[in-house]
Amino acid sequence: MGDCVFCKIIAGEFGTEFLYEDDLCVIFKDMAPKAPTHLLIVSKKHIVSIAEMDDSDEVIVAHLISCARDVAKSIGLRGYNLQINVGKDGGQEVFHLHIHLMSKFNS
Ligand code: 5GP
Ligand code: ZN
Repeated sequence: MGDCVFCKIIAGEFGTEFLYEDDLCVIFKDMAPKAPTHLLIVSKKHIVSIAEMDDSDEVIVAHLISCARDVAKSIGLRGYNLQINVGKDGGQEVFHLHIHLMSKFNS
C-alpha cells in the first residue's frame, strides 16, 4: 500500500483524470496504451491480485466487470477485451487489482 502507484493515483497524488469513480473503483487511461483504447478499471481497495483476493472481495471483482461494461457502452465501443494479469509470471506489474479494458476501436 505505502508504495503502491495505484493507491497514490486513487488518493489523487498525481492528478490523474478519472473517467469514472464510485465507492469501489476508479477508471483511468493506461499511461502506456497497448491498444487504441486502453483503460484500467481499478479497485479502490488495495487487493494485491486475483490470487490474493479473499472470497469476500468477489463483490468488488464483479463490480469492476460491471463498470467495465458500463464505461465501454458510455464511450460507444463496439467490442473490447477485458484482461486481468495475475502474478509476475502472468505479466502483472502493478500489484493492485485492476482490469485492462482494451479495444481496437478508438473511443
Ligand atoms: P499490469 O501489467 O500490472 O497488469 O498492468 C499495469 C498497467 O498499469 C500497465 O499497462 C501500465 O502501463 C499501467 N501503469 C503503470 N503505472 C501507471 C501510472 O502511473 N499511470 C497510469 N495511467 N497507468 C500506469
Ligand atoms: Zn494499492
